Amino acid sequence: MKGTEKICYLCGDKITSSCSRDHVPPRQLFPKQAREKLDLTTVLVHAKCNSEYQKDEEYFVSSLGPLAMETSSGKLVWDDLRKRIIRPESRKLTKKVLDEFDTRIVLPDNLIIKHFDGERICRVLWKITKGLYFAEKNQFLSDKMPKHFEIFDNSAKQIPERFSFLRSFSTRGKYPTIFDFRIASIPEVPNFMIIAMLFWEKIIGVVMFHEPGCGCDICKKL
Ligand SMILES: [Zn+2]
Ligand SMILES: [Zn+2]
Repeated sequence: MKGTEKICYLCGDKITSSCSRDHVPPRQLFPKQAREKLDLTTVLVHAKCNSEYQKDEEYFVSSLGPLAMETSSGKLVWDDLRKRIIRPESRKLTKKVLDEFDTRIVLPDNLIIKHFDGERICRVLWKITKGLYFAEKNQFLSDKMPKHFEIFDNSAKQIPERFSFLRSFSTRGKYPTIFDFRIASIPEVPNFMIIAMLFWEKIIGVVMFHEPGCGCDICKKL
């Protein structure tokens, strides 16, 4: 934007030297064959800040991607992952993800338990949230803002009833079969925002957070 200061959407500091751009949502979510033709929203970022998330984004796709293999977009992501896991440089990540499947416990419908590193998953969800928010409002979201994350399966049985109101907000994803999202704010609760994200038509991540300028007791102390 003309005349406004350039800031990094991840750290909030000025960008003085050459700047880099990050895609919102990350290109990594997309199957390789689709990446060339993408026309994703971009936001300004320090290359260094961006690179600090790279490993977590890889983990995010490797850990959650296999859970989506029943959808057509999830299957394409899974096909990429399968090719990658046989490479020696992926051995460590592959072992970590495989260890997360707990095959000792089989649930009804042949579901198996999958554990994941919640901290890393949430770090990526928060990064995408910051990017969507910055693209929408041209405003930086500090990591200190109070926030809460929930992850569940995109099936009627799994979506908690308290989130059903989100359906009344329009979906905004450019490539909804890979990544779709809704941004919801509630008039009764000012400065509180919810971003619900859908990955590969299968996994829902909901991030609730206080917006900049929130004057609640917690935010006042920040
Ligand atoms: Zn930065
Ligand atoms: Zn607050």
